[in-house]
Amino acid sequence: MTRGEDKAARERADMVRDQLLARGMDPGPVLKAMGEVPREMFVPRSHRSAAYDDAPLALAGGQTISQPYVVARMTEELGLRGDERVLEVGTGSGYQTAILARVAAEVYSIERDALLLGRASDVLARLAYDTVHLRHGDGRLGWPEEEPFGGILVAAVGREPPPALLAQLGPGARLVMPLKYDDTEDGEVLVRLERRGDSFHRTPLFPVRFVPLLAGTR
Ligand code: SAH
Repeated sequence: MTRGEDKAARERADMVRDQLLARGMDPGPVLKAMGEVPREMFVPRSHRSAAYDDAPLALAGGQTISQPYVVARMTEELGLRGDERVLEVGTGSGYQTAILARVAAEVYSIERDALLLGRASDVLARLAYDTVHLRHGDGRLGWPEEEPFGGILVAAVGREPPPALLAQLGPGARLVMPLKYDDTEDGEVLVRLERRGDSFHRTPLFPVRFVPLLAGTR
């Protein structure tokens, strides 16, 4: 281990203890993944020293990499066993994708911004995540060739879960996504939906702040 890797490993251990366990998360595969994925490799060089801060960080084009706690909770709320194929909408930096790759069998991730997707693809390839499949496109349409999914994570806020994504959710599987409600001022809430037959059981989790889920690509 180089001195830099050693420092990052210590910062990860502190992050897991102070930001995740301290907020009541249980030890398990998700926290193990959070303790292993080198977050500093997914953030812009200028933000490396802040990689393990208890905060979101800026990416190119006004996008953000979510706060570690939010990444961990969204992953945990999918309730994965480990053998699922998971869909992610909003690859961004690829950090959340890497966490998912450690707790699921296959990850299908869609990003609308070609520049961000290219960077995420480079980092994920360098770290040899070969169960990750990336696509440039509008994630609101899902990835119909690979449905049904054992979990769907949407990393951008909308008013309702896109119907195509609900249609691609397998039996008993969960979709985790931030939703914007009219009656909570500009508030956004992280929501978990679980498929039961043809209905979806909705559980609001906690307030969050995300970039918008947009139509089309760039
Ligand atoms: N989870 C990411 C952060 C994602 S930020 C990480 O760990 O870094 C949200 C991302 O969603 C942005 O990169 C944005 O470009 C993307 N996005 C927004 N609308 C989208 C859509 N319709 N389809 C795919 N990606 C979308």
